[in-house]
Amino acid sequence: MSPYRTHLCGELREVHVGQSVLLAGWVHRVRDMGGVVFVDLRDRTGIVQVVFREERVPDLMDAAAKLRAESVVQVRGQVALRPLDTVNPKIPTGTVEVVAEALEVLNPAEPVPFSIADEADVHDTTRLRYRYLDLRRPAMFRNLELRHRVVWAARQYLHEQGFLEVETPILTKSTPEGARDFLVPSRLQPGKFYALPQSPQLFKQVLMVAGFDRYFQIARCFRDEDLRADRQPEFTQVDIEMSFVTEDDVMTLTEGLVRRMWQEAGYDIPVPFPRMDYDEAIERYGSDKPDTRFGYCLTTVTDLFVDTEFRIFREAARTEGHVVTALAIPGGAAWPRNRLDHLTERAKQLGGRGLVWVRWPAGEAPQSPVAKFLRPTELAALRERLGLADGGLALLMAGPREATCSVLGVIRLELARQEGWVPNDAGWHFLWVINFPLLEWSDEEGRWVARHHPFTSPQPETLEWLSSRPERVRARAYDLVVNGVEIGGGSIRNYRRPDQERVFEILQIPPEEYRSKFGFLLEALSYGAPPHGGIALGLDRIVMLLAGAPSIRDVIAFPKTSSGQCLMTGSPSEVTERQLRELHLRVDV
Ligand code: ASP
Repeated sequence: MSPYRTHLCGELREVHVGQSVLLAGWVHRVRDMGGVVFVDLRDRTGIVQVVFREERVPDLMDAAAKLRAESVVQVRGQVALRPLDTVNPKIPTGTVEVVAEALEVLNPAEPVPFSIADEADVHDTTRLRYRYLDLRRPAMFRNLELRHRVVWAARQYLHEQGFLEVETPILTKSTPEGARDFLVPSRLQPGKFYALPQSPQLFKQVLMVAGFDRYFQIARCFRDEDLRADRQPEFTQVDIEMSFVTEDDVMTLTEGLVRRMWQEAGYDIPVPFPRMDYDEAIERYGSDKPDTRFGYCLTTVTDLFVDTEFRIFREAARTEGHVVTALAIPGGAAWPRNRLDHLTERAKQLGGRGLVWVRWPAGEAPQSPVAKFLRPTELAALRERLGLADGGLALLMAGPREATCSVLGVIRLELARQEGWVPNDAGWHFLWVINFPLLEWSDEEGRWVARHHPFTSPQPETLEWLSSRPERVRARAYDLVVNGVEIGGGSIRNYRRPDQERVFEILQIPPEEYRSKFGFLLEALSYGAPPHGGIALGLDRIVMLLAGAPSIRDVIAFPKTSSGQCLMTGSPSEVTERQLRELHLRVDV
């Protein structure tokens, strides 16, 4: 038996009444009522009330009253039923209390920078600086406990499905996932650098070549990107690769896995998940991660404006790859004019070419800032296409398809928040987005780049578009989305060396470059690589959603700030001259 405790604070119940217990934990709160001192004692299982009574322990009263919050103490006492009027139904131990007989302060705490007991909002900087205190807060503990359970469920499921967990290196060579690498200078190889893996992509493919058939890893990935609420420079993926599979196999396996992870958090979700074409996601939701919890979809109305006098719409309607798209809002005609002006401004901010609104107030002629350019027949056809009754409002935008739909898609999400379009009980809306473009144009690089990563296989029947319309070549890739959040993505890979080389050539990566960067992969592919494919799920985002947390920081024990700092340890930090010399580096800032 532990010399420190016989029971845990949160487990005491009426069945323990009469027992003598030894507890150890943190002082949560002290209330000195004069003659009686209540001390709430906390450990990871919960809180129990300890009561010091003048008539029983006169010598301890002073020490108990002076206990500082967050000190670590040990208490011996007897479990008793609480008098009815002091029962606390809010906590599981609320019908009992421990009548103190002995008290020992194991480690007194300095005054804490913020209270653990008051669940008040604490500034993020303070929370991260004193993360060990922040993690004492029960809500944070619950998040990390949930994370543990979800990971454990994933491991168990994958194990049952015949997957082997294999660790891959952290000190490695760049794997392109579209972000900047973190580099580590090599001491033994002067002037050379390791890269931290952006994902285990190449290693997992090599494991397939090695015949492992089914691999997974709870893998840390590193990407040196500008950070947002749902991004961290290091994050965790449930990384998976399988041999002799098609898209359907990977998606079915993933559905089972996700179902198990959600089950662990108490949700029963139906599988299989619906699938949506990338093109439809863009046209209907203005996003490749559509939030399908609510309607208010975009409607393409390009064909209505081929002959319009309104130049912007006419040009869009007559230009290949351009669209006129509309968001219909029943009842929106009543929105004040300044709100519409604000939306027009917002569309510009988002990079749109200008938003046009049309409204149909009951019993009046349609109104729009561009009404004089639009024929009554065009307005009538628009209204009919959108199915708008009296009092309806339409927001319209014209221009290149993807960019234009994306702006209206963002406005759709912002309005949803303002108007409460997402029902409170919407639940979990999963979907697969499939048929992604293989390539996307990079202005920065002046060439087509891989939309997923360069190891993704094209859909062979779409390769005919390669020279004329490269954006039409589709990838054998799939993304998993829930409630408008992308939680995973993967693809079927190029498993024959010539196919992989062809993709590098499509990406205009010169042979010297791809051989020096990925020669080992090409070699591996030429020694008997099976057809293979896989996926990676973003664990941090998944746990964030399951915990209902506002940020992935709330589900990572020791996260970094948006400027990439760890405020608790003070990293990144300077190093000594000697360390630099050993690494053959000079700092030039
Ligand atoms: N390595 C990919 C990623 O990190 C996932 C995959 O293709 O399996 O997004």
